[in-house]
Parts: sequence; structure tokens; C-alpha cells
Amino acid sequence: MTFSPQESPALPPGNNKGKRLLYLHVPFCERLCPYCSFNRVPFEEKLCRAYFSALRKEILLYRDKGYDFNGVYVGGGTPTVLVDELEAVLSLARECFSVGEISVETNPDHLTEVRLAPLERAGVKRLSVGIQSFDDALLKAMDRYDKYGSGRRIAERMKSVMGRFDTLNADMMFNFPSQTGASIENDLDTLAEIAVDQVTYYPLMVSDSTRRQVEQKLGSVDERREYVYYRRISRQLLKEYRFSSAWCFSRKTAEAVKIVDEYVVDYDDYAGLGSGSIGYLAGVCYANTFDIEDYIDRVEKDRIPLMASRTFGIRERIHYDFLMKLFGGSLDLIALGKKYGVSLFRYLWLPIFFFRLVGGIERRDNRLFLTERGRYHWVVMMREFFTAVNNFRDFCRS
Ligand code: SF4
Repeated sequence: MTFSPQESPALPPGNNKGKRLLYLHVPFCERLCPYCSFNRVPFEEKLCRAYFSALRKEILLYRDKGYDFNGVYVGGGTPTVLVDELEAVLSLARECFSVGEISVETNPDHLTEVRLAPLERAGVKRLSVGIQSFDDALLKAMDRYDKYGSGRRIAERMKSVMGRFDTLNADMMFNFPSQTGASIENDLDTLAEIAVDQVTYYPLMVSDSTRRQVEQKLGSVDERREYVYYRRISRQLLKEYRFSSAWCFSRKTAEAVKIVDEYVVDYDDYAGLGSGSIGYLAGVCYANTFDIEDYIDRVEKDRIPLMASRTFGIRERIHYDFLMKLFGGSLDLIALGKKYGVSLFRYLWLPIFFFRLVGGIERRDNRLFLTERGRYHWVVMMREFFTAVNNFRDFCRS
């Protein structure tokens, strides 16, 4: 896929067919972690307040174009860095759109009354906390021990928040260079002790721009261990949890657990607002400008701050749905055929043939399902997908 910057990329019309998600990006972090490839910058209060104000304006631009959204996902960075601003953004989104679910990412040091009360007032249903690991040695290597405290302290904070939101998600990471099997076992035991509603277990993703820093601070990444660790994690978690996506596990008994980290699984369409956000609406994939000051400037001039867009052809759209739906565990072939009004065989025979041959998917009635091995194939593909997105972002910035 080529995805080249254009002078006048455009959004598709804002008709209200189907379920849509509003993704809002807040790129500020109080201190940057060395391994992180996400779209983030150091926190500066003045710039951050101007950014939140631009985000509210961008919401109004989408409303004026006739868009409606059923859910909101706020990712970062650290969205709760200025919680008064975030509360105002969420209350505006609820005023403008038919928002049901709201999910917000945060960090362990923000699990305090002063930040949680505004989130509850704003109607947040799912809080996702970036933990990565409870292992103190690893937290120190990741530069997170000083910021967020020891693994024990983080676990106690998580326990104290249980029950305040419909879903409390623990964002974990595996395959850090110095991480051992024993350290993962300890993390799994701590998660069981907290009895958290949902666990998202990402593999370490290293973009080209962070590889050197990761290798200097943490050591080289050994992708050969990744499958061993993934199998250990998923087998352990599946005793109490079910798959919501290949790397997200939701507690079997929790009815309210609906939103997962990968909103791309649940929503066919999503708009990406904020600097560097990527959206996918009616087959058009687009990116906002990555430069924060340029983003604020464009929005202040009442312009949707698009930097690039690309309209997918039918083959790419079907392949995209194939990838995302199976990432969520299963794909309904009848529903997908109806969505595009075509015979899927023409477009999907090769990937279906290949993944059945390698034991990654199986067919039951008119649905495809990932096997245990297939889930790991999808983890690898999604890791590569997100790494490519991060590389693309770094390329556009440079
Ligand atoms: S890991 Fe989270 S807190 Fe650390 S720099 Fe990345 S987005 Fe910010």
C-alpha cells in the first residue's frame, strides 16, 4: 500500500450509516519511556492546553460535517495529563454525538481521586492503565520505577480502583529484552491477585526510530522467544478470561466488558482526531498532521488537519476486514460477503488457503476462527502493522 502526503486530502461525507468510533489522541507524556514507539511528546502545559482546545474545535468540525459516533476512545500519550481539559473534551463529545461507550488510557500514578472523579463524571466506562510489568528490575530498566513506583505499589493502586469503572484494563507488555519466564509468571500471579476485568498483553513493538535507544537501554530484542511467552501468557489467562482479540483477554464472568483496546475489531469505521491520528472512514484511510503546532494552527483556521489520505479499493477493504475481524477471533463470511455484495472467494481464497495450510484458521459453518497458533500469527501481523504505522509517522515527522 502506498500512502503519500497530498495537498488536499479529503474526508468522505459524514452520513450516519453503521457503527462508528471517535478516536481522540493526546500525545503528551510527563516523561518519555525509552522503548515507546507511540505518537508522544514531552508535556508542556501551555501547549497542551492549546492542543485540547484545538481538539474540541476539531470535534465541532466533524459535527458540522454531519458525523455521528457511538463510542469514544482516548489514547496517548497520557490522556489524563490535564484531566480538567479531558473532561471538557468528553462532555463536548457527548453533547455533539450519540456516544455510548467511553474508554480512556492512563498511567498508574494518575489513579488518584483528583483524576478519577472527573473521569467518572465524564461517563468513562473503561479505564486502561499502562502497567507493562510488575517486575521492579524491569520497571527500572524501562525508566518507569521512579515515575510510577514499584510493582507492588502499582498492584495496590489497581486493587483500590477495581469496581469504579465497568472495565478496568491492565495494559501489559511481553518480550522485553531482559524479561524472563519467571518475571512473566510473577506478572500473571499479580494480575490474578488484582482480578482485573481485562488484560491487554502486547508484544514489544520497536520502530526504526526507537530501536537504537531500546538496544542501548534494554538490550536486543529476541523475537524467537515471543511465541513461547505468548503461549505461556494466553494459556494461563484463558483459565479465567476469554479472548477479545488475539492480545486482549476479558474476564469470562464480566458482562459489562465490551470495549477492547483494539477498537479496530469492533468498529468498521473510526475517525482519528488529534495530531498524528489515523482514521478509516468508508474505505478511506487518512492521517492528521503530525506536527502539533501545525495541527493547532490548521484547526484554529477551521480546517480538518488532514495530511494524507488514501481510498482503498475493494480488494484492500476486504483484506483489511479479514485481518481486523480475525484479530477479534472470528470472521462471519456471509456478513462480509453481504457488506460488499461480492463473492468473497475471488478476494480471499489465497489468504484462507494459506492460513488453513499452516493451521492458523479453521472453518465452522460460515465462520472462520483463529486456532491457537493462528492467534500468534495475528499477533505478529498486528505487531508489524503497528510498527509500520509508527515508522510511517516518524517518516512524516522527519
Ligand atoms: S509508554 Fe506510555 S507513558 Fe511511556 S512514553 Fe509511551 S505513551 Fe508515554
